[in-house]
Amino acid sequence: MHLTEHKLPNLPTTVVGSLPRPEAMRDALKKRRKGKISDGEFQTISDDAVRAAIELQERAGIDIISDGEMRRENFYSFIAECVDGIKLLSLADLLDYVEDKSGFERLLQSLDVPAFAIHNPVVEGKLRVKKPLALDEFNYARGLTNRPIKVALPGPYLLTRSMWVKSLSYETYPTKESLGADVVQMLRNELIHLRDAGCFFVQFDEPVLSEVAFAGPHATHTFMCAALSEKASPEHELEFAVELLNQVVEGIDGVKTGLHVCRGNWSRKDDVLLAGAYDPLIPYFAKMKVSQLVLEYATDRAGPVESLLALPEDKEIGLGVVNPRTSEIESAEFVAAKVAPLLKKRAPGSIYLNPDCGFGTFSDRPVNDWETAERKLSALSDAARLIAGNGAVR
Ligand SMILES: [Zn+2]
Repeated sequence: MHLTEHKLPNLPTTVVGSLPRPEAMRDALKKRRKGKISDGEFQTISDDAVRAAIELQERAGIDIISDGEMRRENFYSFIAECVDGIKLLSLADLLDYVEDKSGFERLLQSLDVPAFAIHNPVVEGKLRVKKPLALDEFNYARGLTNRPIKVALPGPYLLTRSMWVKSLSYETYPTKESLGADVVQMLRNELIHLRDAGCFFVQFDEPVLSEVAFAGPHATHTFMCAALSEKASPEHELEFAVELLNQVVEGIDGVKTGLHVCRGNWSRKDDVLLAGAYDPLIPYFAKMKVSQLVLEYATDRAGPVESLLALPEDKEIGLGVVNPRTSEIESAEFVAAKVAPLLKKRAPGSIYLNPDCGFGTFSDRPVNDWETAERKLSALSDAARLIAGNGAVR
């Protein structure tokens, strides 16, 4: 099916990407990391998990669904399996290569990050794609549902910035720009493959843009780019991010593209995550040639929704109205209050409703459980129908 063949309701609902991986899936991922599971066994377990993830979203009434990112360890390091030239280092291993070791160590402790469990992809040779990043995942999911599908990919800035570690990458890629060019080509090819296969929506995840905007040139406040050195001014970094993303999507029609930016989603401790309104990022969002901006607003750390009215009118908004990190279920009134300022100024077909971020994030430490994720997604679609249908809760 192609982009135009799906009829969506007003206030379409979707997910940002991941769902919590069921225990069998987490186990299989762990075994795969240690080489203790056959490809066939992994395939069977992950196929089951994807089927369950899709059934969950269909039961919950979500319009545009994902495969729950079941097969991925997390939202970005999975690409190491698909691409030569990248190796995975645990954050603890990464310490050996980081220039400011004690700073990085303090950072990991203060951020509540499981340093031994999380693996960061690092470039140590020329990038060569061995297998598609997400096309196989998409093709399997497409066989299980008639609903339009969203696929999330790590964004080009995140990949370029987090994978370039000077002492390991310099010989192949002397500058971040040289690595960026290969990352762009890789993502662009994948986007075209997904479009040709009938994918409805490809979302690029760039969670570090908020860090760049809120933390300033010398501070590092999330672990994903903790290995960064030679970080330029926020303006320069954000321009670089715009350039990379636009090179990925330039001229590719027939698939909806989006950019997701949150403030970090690895811990339920709100105070270790970044805070700040999107305002400093809006001028850069406006220049990005994606159809939709997928942003978090269920958390108070995001500031007022009205900031988004500064975006050009042709940009769709994927409004986060459900917090993936909490246990309580959002009410329709809560969702209605969040979306109301936008509905006054924008067409309801241009506003999508979604959770703030994924429910899984890292396979070893999901930010929520399966049952809560389903209840939250059901509440999301109920609220969307109420608000779009008769305005009963407005
Ligand atoms: Zn996110």
